[in-house]
Amino acid sequence: MMNDSPTTTPNEDSKPIDWYQMGGDAITEQLTVDATTGLSQDEAVKRVDQYGPNEISQGKKRSLFGLLLAQFSDFMILILIAAAVISGMVGEPTDALVIMVIVVLNALIGFVQDYRAEKALEALREMSASHALVRRGGEYTKVLASELVPGDLVLVEAGNIIPADLRLVEAADLQVNEAALTGESVTVEKQTQPIKEKTHALGDRTNMAFKGCIVSKGRGEGICVATGMNTEFGKVASLLDKDDDNKTPLQNRLSRFGKRLSLIILAVCVIIFTLGLLRGEDPALMFLTAVSLAVAAIPEALPAIVTISLALGAKRMVQSNALIRRLPAVEALGSVTYICTDKTGTLTQNRMAFESVYAGGALHESLQHGTPFWDTFGQALALNNDIQLDAKGELLGEPTEKALYEAASEASYHKAELEVTMPRIGEIAFSSERKCMTTIHTHGSHIISYSKGAPEALIPRCKTQLLMDGTSTAIDQQSIQQAAQDLAEKGYRVLALAFRHWDELPQHSLDELVESELCLLGLIALIDPPRPNAQEAVKQCRDAGITPVMITGDHPATALAIAKRLGIAGDSDKVISGEVLDTQSDEALKASVLETAVYARVNPEQKIRIVEALQSHQQFVAMTGDGVNDAPALKRADVGIAMGKIGTEVAREASQLVLLDDEFKTIVVAVKEGRRIFDNIRKFIKYTMTSNTGEILTLLIAPFLGMPIPLLPIHILWINLVTDGLPGLALSLEPAEKNVMKRPPRPYSESIFAHGMWQHMLWAGFLIAAVSLSSLAWANANGSEHWQTMVFTTLTFSQLVHVMVIRSDKASLFSIGFTSNPLLLITLAATIVLQLIVIYTPALQSIFKTQSLTLQEMGVCVALSSVIFFAVEIEKWLTRRGIIYVDKKQAPQGETV
Ligand code: ATP
Repeated sequence: MMNDSPTTTPNEDSKPIDWYQMGGDAITEQLTVDATTGLSQDEAVKRVDQYGPNEISQGKKRSLFGLLLAQFSDFMILILIAAAVISGMVGEPTDALVIMVIVVLNALIGFVQDYRAEKALEALREMSASHALVRRGGEYTKVLASELVPGDLVLVEAGNIIPADLRLVEAADLQVNEAALTGESVTVEKQTQPIKEKTHALGDRTNMAFKGCIVSKGRGEGICVATGMNTEFGKVASLLDKDDDNKTPLQNRLSRFGKRLSLIILAVCVIIFTLGLLRGEDPALMFLTAVSLAVAAIPEALPAIVTISLALGAKRMVQSNALIRRLPAVEALGSVTYICTDKTGTLTQNRMAFESVYAGGALHESLQHGTPFWDTFGQALALNNDIQLDAKGELLGEPTEKALYEAASEASYHKAELEVTMPRIGEIAFSSERKCMTTIHTHGSHIISYSKGAPEALIPRCKTQLLMDGTSTAIDQQSIQQAAQDLAEKGYRVLALAFRHWDELPQHSLDELVESELCLLGLIALIDPPRPNAQEAVKQCRDAGITPVMITGDHPATALAIAKRLGIAGDSDKVISGEVLDTQSDEALKASVLETAVYARVNPEQKIRIVEALQSHQQFVAMTGDGVNDAPALKRADVGIAMGKIGTEVAREASQLVLLDDEFKTIVVAVKEGRRIFDNIRKFIKYTMTSNTGEILTLLIAPFLGMPIPLLPIHILWINLVTDGLPGLALSLEPAEKNVMKRPPRPYSESIFAHGMWQHMLWAGFLIAAVSLSSLAWANANGSEHWQTMVFTTLTFSQLVHVMVIRSDKASLFSIGFTSNPLLLITLAATIVLQLIVIYTPALQSIFKTQSLTLQEMGVCVALSSVIFFAVEIEKWLTRRGIIYVDKKQAPQGETV
């Protein structure tokens, strides 16, 4: 266990205060707060100014200037600037100046991109910020956790991450896992009494709850005594491993690939330089040519482009209610082959509605009032309930609880009224593992406990059952279980309700003893209709080669009924229940896992086994979850998905994607968006790398054909800035291809250059070089002086044609539509206009060493560039026919680029 200094006040200057040794009154006095109403809103705002936000500082943040400077830190850029300056001094100063201007422009574009990416990431971080429930001005309010201040009264419950250091004043079965702080994995039972002995061990301060720790059970209230870096967590934050590396596997692979490729490009540049020297060219010019080419062709921006595409894509996904918490998820989504999803709330509306009661051997449409039987039933329903009313009188709590609360209220069993005469004096909280909950109340001089839960969890704990006439008899387990089964098969959620009288408050801490020898009241059927769009989303999944699997805590019969309705399970499909899973070996599970569509009564630990079994078949698994105990499975899955509405903070923290609307449909939308983004990253890479190949080959091949240097350094840099830069960026806005959800998922480890990409980069690059040099040959053959401008123009235009035609790997441009990416059209038009200005304006002609092309020369450039269009359309036609680039069945294993 970790030792640390005593908890200090938030004010650094004051003497450390041992809050855990103090009583509640002393604390409220010290922090000047009213223990019943909490701080006023105004006071809280003032204290934020005084103490600062409740945040752990995130280390160094890059300043704007730092971001700008980073653009120039690339080694090749520095060489280029040096080369430009030197050659400017010995040759023409205007050349040097223009090169500098282009480099600066390049850096500015890079800066704007990086800035946008950082802003997008920041916005995402802000959206996933956590909240806390506080009592201010006498009312419960949800505030940003960063706005908590010392003195705030904070409420916490199972699933929360403690937002600040709290001195507890209320603890109902409150258990906290402090592993994040102390390394101790055993949960600590919390209490509220002052601790006399001084202790340095945080784990022994059982009346404190520390920031960053997880509430695993129960609920409580505490006075905030320290925030931000003054919390115990803040003190050790710098020592902790920040799992904030947002580099995606693709980025890492690309940057490694980029480094290797840079070496090859540098080698080619050396060859071009040497060949130039051998032919007697001006060494300074050759040097500048080689360096410009290296700058233009080295794909140093690839990882950055990936970040921008992913970050902007993630920002867009929020509009569809998919909040990306970790950037690699965007990339991973496109590879998902299995989606393991919860049922309640995700596939169904989680709008539980009371349907009927099964009691005394018959179904009743509603609760009655006034007989001893119904009084006990109604009281049980109202009192065994955790619904809270907020300031506006709205119900806060679980939909199941709400439905039961409302059913009881409708029959005039009001929780608040009943609690006056029958206050709650004890409880055993609900947990997904136990599938039931119990509350204990005084009842005159007696004590009574009410329990409700899943039929198979509760019915075996009943010894008797209450009859409609108010008498009790021995329970007929079998017929009640059968009644529950019948209701579940109709798709209802079924709960059993029971009670027990006690002479004194049961002291057993064991649930089994309190929840035993119960008297059954009956069954309650609730209906939770499937979401209207879930069936369509399931179909889209199947079309996209993704198998949806339902994993639920609900009854097997209920689960199967809903799964069939949604198309997740077929008529012959069976359910595997948690009980069966427990008896199955990992091997047996592995053998059946690919064929099972529904798992019911599954507890969170079993979810991990299911994920692992699927992963052992090389499946790429997305898994949803909401509870504290779902966190390990969410982490284990390839894409962990948390529920934004009903999910706990712990589940959100553990996942990569949060569904803001909790809907299954949103996962499918996110997968589609993930695939689109990945496609566009591929297209961008295909475009720039082919362009670079074209530029390199143009310069490399010319001397072998006895041609002069076809391009000047300034032309190369211009092409790199304008032609490559602008339209390339517009590719990230390319809409999803029509077949994006009709093709199988992309194997995660598959090379980004698969499906004919590297072949394309080579042959299309070669073709671009060939048509560019053909324009040179044409000029020579026709005695034109404008050969260099013609090569410059043909190369630029070919790239523009190329970017249009590679908008899809397979579909022809005619079927995608020329106008479906308006930004691309705008950038193309802008690039053409800029190119014409550079060629035809006298002022720029002297700078860019260009000449006005005649109409015929321009015609030749356009005609030669359009060859690219026809060639790539033929390539796509052959691909569509399956003649070339046939997809391999098996993805390459291991890491590839
Ligand atoms: P899913 O895993 O798809 O969200 P679920 O909501 O049924 O399904 P849990 O919340 O773990 O999963 O609930 C498990 C079971 O516990 C339910 O099927 C129900 O029988 C019982 N249960 C749920 N809520 C309560 C509650 N508030 N009180 C008592 N029992 C409950």
